[in-house]
Order: sequence, then C-alpha cells, then structure tokens
Amino acid sequence: MSVIHPLRLRYSNAYLVVGDRPILVDTGSRGDAPAIVAGCAAAGVKIRDLALILHTHVHSDHFGNTVDLAAEAGCPVAYHPGDGPLALRGNNGPLRGVGLRGRILARLLAHLPFRARSADIDAEEGRRLDAFGISGSILHTPGHTPGSISVVLDSGDAVIGDVIMGGHAGGAIRPSQPNFHYFADDLPGVMASLDRILAATSGWLFVGHGGPLRHEAVVKWRRRHDGRR
Ligand SMILES: [Zn+2]
Repeated sequence: MSVIHPLRLRYSNAYLVVGDRPILVDTGSRGDAPAIVAGCAAAGVKIRDLALILHTHVHSDHFGNTVDLAAEAGCPVAYHPGDGPLALRGNNGPLRGVGLRGRILARLLAHLPFRARSADIDAEEGRRLDAFGISGSILHTPGHTPGSISVVLDSGDAVIGDVIMGGHAGGAIRPSQPNFHYFADDLPGVMASLDRILAATSGWLFVGHGGPLRHEAVVKWRRRHDGRR
C-alpha cells in the first residue's frame, strides 16, 4: 500500500508518495526546496532515497525545483510528453484564465520562468509505477495543460494536480471545497478529465492548491457544472 504525504508549500502543494520506495510528485516554486527537503525528512525520507520525481504538469509552481532536486536525488525526472514544450521552454507561456480572478492572475503569472529540464521518462497514460515502488498508475488528464496527469493509487486515492483546486485564494479559504482552478488551456477538456478521474478513484483526491478533496464532494460539485462558467 502506498501512502500520500502532502507537502504544503508557499504557493502550491507537492506530494511525497511512499510505497516500497518513495517518489516525489511536483517540486513547488523556486525557493521551496528547503521545505520539500524538510517535509521529506519528517516522513523519514532523504532526497537521495527518491526513486522518481514525477510531475502532475509543468508550471512554475510545480516544476520550480526539479533541476536541483533531481541532481541531489540522482533519480529520473518524469512528465507527460504533452508538457514537453513547456518544460523545454522553461516558462509558463500564456495562461488562459477561468473567471475574472483567473483572467487577472493569468496576466500576472504568464511567462513566469523556471529551469528547463528534459524528461528521463515519459509519464504516459497507463504507465504503472511499481518499478519505482508505488502501487499505482498514471492517468492522462489534460485540460489545465496538454500534458497534465493524475497519479492514481491502487488504494483509490489520487494526486490530480491542477485539474481542479480546493477552496479559494489558492486554497487558503475552505480548502476542502472543490473549485475551478484559475487557469485551463481547455475547460471542457478539464471536465472530461475530471470524469475519468472520478471513474478511476474512490478515496481522497489530492490537488495542487488546497485540498484534499473527498471523492463524493467532487462528484456533487461536478454534477453542478456542465463545463462552462
Ligand atoms: Zn498549474
């Protein structure tokens, strides 16, 4: 059985997932590395123990310390090929805002830079993670970005990145309440991905901002929205 440990960082969550071996899912924003190291240590994991650094998607608040942590860990880096252009360009590019607040934030955060890194492993649909000690697999859940993925554990829990988020103000208010993320390249795509996630999971859904979300709360929220705002 693999266990998900949230690492709550300044602007986003990363996750330490521990099975027979530990993996890190997402690497926060630039400057979050000490908090990630400390969070892993609190769970008894050293960075050099990591079997893999996997990304739910490539944005500056999820990929900010990938180059440094991968060098320290000496482990492979994985993300979906759909986010390859973002990862190799090394900045967020244009962001498509959802709602008024999203459109304002999209202007502020577009083109925010991070250190570019090629992938050692493609995190493609259906790939099992057993070789990295984790009982689970990858579900391609595009919409927020073309290469967004979810990490679905055999337990029924999942790390779903920025498909949706928890609460308001980046998750500071009512973090367990499902909500649209501020940005989506393709909002109908987000909703289709959310349907796939709900079909593949039954437990806690761990998001990039706020959360975690109960499966049944997301099911109810999904019924209230038809993919538009
Ligand atoms: Zn994002």
